[in-house]
Amino acid sequence: MSKVKELTHEDVKNLVAEYMNKEHVALVERAYHFAAVAHANQVRKSGEPYIIHPIQVAGILAELRMDPETVCAGYMHDIVEDTGATLEDIRELFGPTIALIVDGDTKISKIHYKSNKEQMAETHRKLLLAMSKDIRVMIVKLADRLHNMRTLQHLRPDKQRRIANETLEIYAPIADRLGISTIKWELEDLSLRYLNPQQYYRIVHLMNSRRDQRVNYINVAIDQVKQAISDLNLGKNVEIYGRPKHIYSVYRKMVTQHKQFSEIYDLLAIRVVVENIRDCYAVLGAIHTSWTPMPGRFKDYIAMPKANGYQSLHTTVIGPEGRPLEIQIRTHQMHEVAEYGVAAHWAYKEGKTQGVDQTSRDSQTLNVVKEILELRKESNGTDEFMQGVQSDIFADKVYAFTPKGDVIEMPKGAGPLDMAYQIHTEVGNHTTGAKVNGRIVPLNYEIKNGDIVDILTSSSSAGPSRDWLDLVSTRRARNKIRQFFRAHYREQNIEEGHRILEAELRDQGFNPVDFLVPEQENKVADVLHYNSAADLFAAIGFGDLAPQGVANRFTAAVRKQQQKDRQEEAERALLEDHQTLDKPSEKKGKPSGDGIIVEGVDNLLTRLSHCCNPIPGDEIVGYITKGRGVSVHRADCPNVQASEASGQRLVTVHWADAQGDKTNYDADIEVQGYNRSGLLNDVIRTVNNKTRYLNSINGKVDHNRMVVISLTVGVRNLAHLDLIIGALKNVADVYVVKRVIH
Ligand code: MN
Repeated sequence: MSKVKELTHEDVKNLVAEYMNKEHVALVERAYHFAAVAHANQVRKSGEPYIIHPIQVAGILAELRMDPETVCAGYMHDIVEDTGATLEDIRELFGPTIALIVDGDTKISKIHYKSNKEQMAETHRKLLLAMSKDIRVMIVKLADRLHNMRTLQHLRPDKQRRIANETLEIYAPIADRLGISTIKWELEDLSLRYLNPQQYYRIVHLMNSRRDQRVNYINVAIDQVKQAISDLNLGKNVEIYGRPKHIYSVYRKMVTQHKQFSEIYDLLAIRVVVENIRDCYAVLGAIHTSWTPMPGRFKDYIAMPKANGYQSLHTTVIGPEGRPLEIQIRTHQMHEVAEYGVAAHWAYKEGKTQGVDQTSRDSQTLNVVKEILELRKESNGTDEFMQGVQSDIFADKVYAFTPKGDVIEMPKGAGPLDMAYQIHTEVGNHTTGAKVNGRIVPLNYEIKNGDIVDILTSSSSAGPSRDWLDLVSTRRARNKIRQFFRAHYREQNIEEGHRILEAELRDQGFNPVDFLVPEQENKVADVLHYNSAADLFAAIGFGDLAPQGVANRFTAAVRKQQQKDRQEEAERALLEDHQTLDKPSEKKGKPSGDGIIVEGVDNLLTRLSHCCNPIPGDEIVGYITKGRGVSVHRADCPNVQASEASGQRLVTVHWADAQGDKTNYDADIEVQGYNRSGLLNDVIRTVNNKTRYLNSINGKVDHNRMVVISLTVGVRNLAHLDLIIGALKNVADVYVVKRVIH
């Protein structure tokens, strides 16, 4: 690799004077002086004055024929980071555009590079975002990196390797993506020199040792091509020359294709540059007539340009001496794009630069970043890296642009409404539609990486509609839409909340009129932390608050009183029991409170025994007990025999209604099964599905993880109990379900 000549500011000035007008040359001059003062007294690692570095960066940009803003930014790119001068100073002295580029580069210099894969991808993403505002940020950065690579020998070996690695993995692919192949090749070659010096110098040596032989062969080939196309009348503006092979590309092919140096280097290459596209195909035809083309090697990048804009015809033929010869054919304009890529677009054009239509530049920048984000799959291997990036970080996120170039990051699956709410709530609420890449799309469109999304809004729009909730995928958008409904349909929600709560109270057997009075409403609202009763009802109406719980709050006092009443009544009945036992009634068949009819007697206090918990539908028997009325057992209860033996008086009893009387009777169930996680939950859920009364539950696990769950449930009758037992038998890992007698 030949040493690059170090430029002075005079050199750079002469370079820009070749293509800029006086006014612009003066601007560049000012930028130099500003940087020279700011960096005065600073030195580089090499010991040289620091200003040498910005001069070289500006020089590289001038060689690319970049516009005045970019060259100025090249001079000042390290000022904010390393000197006392501020971004505001630059903005004031040089205007917002140059300040924006310098700012972008300052931000990039703060991105901390890590070499593991995820963080590298993250670095890449940040770089893409940094340059999405203005692609010139990255062009300056690449020039900066190029000069740092050229002077890498002054750093410690470990730093050399780190920076070379970063260059190869991050900056060379970006230069490639931007189509700036001159910078890409040099970055790759310089990186290799530090990452694998042995191979680097070996390839350099081999290339040099065969130089003469190679040059001779190329000259023969060029003469033959000239002859082949001589009949085409292509005019004078045709260039044919041997194409230099780059060290890194040779190295790469040796590694990835396991080839010897000779196999790769013997693939000789020439380039034909012509005036227009028609001539490209004419030259191709002439070459294919003279030499046999190798099958599968022809590629038409004119008809189908690469993602970075590259255009050319590629072919390989069996050339002179029967050796394979690679030929590239392109126009001068295509060549400029191939060498300078995006930079070509920003190249200075006298009289136009300052006035170039800003929107066309913006859209160009957007398109480039869009291309990068799209990361199209290409057949050649250079994209492996970028594809890796894609699958790593773009998998769950999409990046879209506003028409102004702001990047909006969203989870994958997001649509125009998600983006609208991400931009601003008011934008979301007034959305009427969306255009993606200039075309109207439906609101359920799924945004793709790099889409330019224009949200259409109208100040007179009525706001979100309910079905928007099905169209959005981000939590933010959903919350914002719900918030809108909360605020805008408050009256309807309050009304609806009233209606729902009244219905719930009626369902629970209460009269809403008794409860829904202002004093109570305020009290419940307060307990549930709502500011007002209206807020409480709005929350129910909107669906934020379940009505059952609220109804329970309203009825709590009444239910407590009812329970107390029932207890008192039971005690009173107990007292009466003594009297009725002594004087049996004449009336027959009146059921007791438990729904039991005692044959021959009524108004007797009956008690359902707790050992077997009889329920309507069970066969039952009764005993008259001392002072405790008639104790009712199931006929199959083992305690019946014991009681008979003790000589207690047996009476005939039966259910007033075998279907039950809507009261709930306790029944004991035992469930045996394997104690997997979630079993208890499943059992509880199953019971809750069949009855509102799961009155007690207990579990015991043995050392084999077998569990015995004892339940007491409230049922209406035997059929109801059978239903619950049947359902429990269907729970996974339950082996036995049975009704028990204690
Ligand atoms: Mn720098």
